Amino acid sequence: MSNEISDKGYFGIFGGQFVPETLMSALQQLDREFTAAWNDPEFHAEFERCLREIAGRPSELYFCKRLTEECGGAKIYLKREDMNHTGAHKINNTLGQALLTKRMGKTRVIAETGAGQHGVATATAAAVFGLECEVFMGTEDIRRQALNVFRMKLLGAKVVPVESGQRTLKDATNEAMRNWMSTSENTHYILGSVCGPHPFPLMVREFQTCIGIEARQQMLDVAGKLPNVVVACVGGGSNAAGIFAPMIDDKDVQMVGVEAGGRSMNLGDHAAPLTVGSHGVLHGSLSYVLQDGDGQTAEVHSVSAGLDYPGVGPEHAMWKETNRVRYTSCSDEEAMDALIKLSRTEGIIPALESSHAVSEALKIAPTLPKDQIVLINLSGRGDKDCNEIQEILARRK
Ligand SMILES: *Cc1c(COP(=O)(O)O)cnc(C)c1O
Repeated sequence: MSNEISDKGYFGIFGGQFVPETLMSALQQLDREFTAAWNDPEFHAEFERCLREIAGRPSELYFCKRLTEECGGAKIYLKREDMNHTGAHKINNTLGQALLTKRMGKTRVIAETGAGQHGVATATAAAVFGLECEVFMGTEDIRRQALNVFRMKLLGAKVVPVESGQRTLKDATNEAMRNWMSTSENTHYILGSVCGPHPFPLMVREFQTCIGIEARQQMLDVAGKLPNVVVACVGGGSNAAGIFAPMIDDKDVQMVGVEAGGRSMNLGDHAAPLTVGSHGVLHGSLSYVLQDGDGQTAEVHSVSAGLDYPGVGPEHAMWKETNRVRYTSCSDEEAMDALIKLSRTEGIIPALESSHAVSEALKIAPTLPKDQIVLINLSGRGDKDCNEIQEILARRK
């Protein structure tokens, strides 16, 4: 298998469109419209203007002087997606898809959300473009993420409670897809990661490649060479795909994706499908999935809500099997330790999700010589996690 994408939306054997017949016409329309937009210089100009004026791009490339000295090995750099408007990389994708919604002449967007970060980014883009917005969210997540629920409402979105299953992200995604079946005439579904049926994995990756395109050039400008290792956390896989894809053909750049190792590596205690899962279909595409002995999608756990998902984007499944990217996991505890370390050495409180990437980088950097470079995609900031962090630290005492 090579790292190739077929025009039917397969990444090697992974991906595809495993959806009910009633969704096929909406997906085909989206595929057509995205392809046309992505070949249109005017769309690119408009997208780049939005990234600059609304998201605040380009994001900085930051050298961690003190952290590097403490580790005593490779130089550590951060790609500062935490500095984007709304606090993470998610806004890159929602701006792209909101622009596409306008282009398709649709007036309403829907989205799924777990922690609420994608919901807030979608509500923000909808407000900017004057689109009606409904966000599907499990009632368990609504309870845990009250502040983000309030932010979405403040931004003018309607939050639709989902009562099925575990009442979390997987269930919210099912409900959003179901809603789209009967509303696609005037509604676009803004999916939040490189998951779901074609063309979502391809489209979301393209909207997120601004991260890797900038980072690649910034490394050349600042250090005169590309990084030796790029590290990113993997939930659905969009921030990782965004930084990996533009350097995937740079054969000397090693890449590491870090999944949520949770409480333990027993099924139900983590969210690491690439590390210990198996082939399966979830939300319309073939990829790696966490499943029990009967093939039922397993329950998952992570300290970071954004990584708490039993599946992963199909392109990552391909990169795993071609050995282009190494996938590993780090535990809740290790992520917390890395969060505290980065806060105290650099004055940056990272998101719990991003802390998984920081943790892995802290393992790698000391093993490498001082002239080498480890680049971390710092996908988001930790402000949203402060309640959670406070509770965890109180339990540790
Ligand atoms: C949502 C989120 C993630 C996980 O999503 P990916 O699609 O894997 O990038 C990671 N970091 C932050 C800060 C997030 O909000």
